[in-house]
Amino acid sequence: MYGIFALSLKVTNWCNLNCAHCRENSGRDAAIKPMPLEKVEDYISQFQELPINLSNRITIDGGEPMLPYFMGDENYIPTVLCLVSKAGAIPTIKTNGTWGNTYTNRSTVLKSLAKNAYFVGRPLTINVPVDEFHNNISGVSNIIADVVFSDYLRGALNISVSGFDTIGSVVAYARLRSDLRDKEINTVDSWNDNFVAYNDDGVGIHVETDYMSGVVRCGRAIKNHVYTENNLSTYVNKIQIDNDDNVALNYVARDNIKKQPLKTVIDSLIKSIDARTK
Ligand code: SF4
Repeated sequence: MYGIFALSLKVTNWCNLNCAHCRENSGRDAAIKPMPLEKVEDYISQFQELPINLSNRITIDGGEPMLPYFMGDENYIPTVLCLVSKAGAIPTIKTNGTWGNTYTNRSTVLKSLAKNAYFVGRPLTINVPVDEFHNNISGVSNIIADVVFSDYLRGALNISVSGFDTIGSVVAYARLRSDLRDKEINTVDSWNDNFVAYNDDGVGIHVETDYMSGVVRCGRAIKNHVYTENNLSTYVNKIQIDNDDNVALNYVARDNIKKQPLKTVIDSLIKSIDARTK
């Protein structure tokens, strides 16, 4: 009845941006402390034991999950990715991509992620927002360009971009493709609104796009996310757990997991959604 469930670990609430629309309740004032690795491991194993249909995709989310790199810790994210892979799941990292603005940060992060992908033997998806809210077009196009021009990165990293079906997002998406052209990368439409980005040698990558329809974000608040309430049976339900042990299901209901098994919290979230949708 509830479709498939995917896990998202919000490893930090801290973010270098402070977007007005943030549904993640994240920003520069949040604690600069990533979720402890033991906790990551524990949640992944609890998730695997849930008696529901599980997606084999686990998202590393924030805030800005690349935070540990900028604190000088290059092992944290690779270790999290190893834990995800050990569980047989496919990892995705959701990031605002602003680290793509500077060569040093970009090089550090991309090489580290690619190295990890080769190590675990499975590509990693980097998902970045391209919409009217994030001033990150240049960083994102730098990231795509680096991946297109490098055999090593191309073999390990997938890039996906997401946004909304708003005019602002359409403009941002067009700006991204124009920025890529300035970097001597051609883009051509592919199926399903995706596009292929390739260099003059004809070498390129497929960039997946996910533009959500009917989603309204109107302010910095946890409770302004109502978009999946009516679609539970067809949607991949997202269970998001943050560093303070709060659990959210599809962003519509939050509960506290402290001293409770994940299954108990999910049961209570589902009941709360059932009550709202009646
Ligand atoms: S980049 Fe994402 S997590 Fe950070 S403040 Fe903006 S919306 Fe929130």
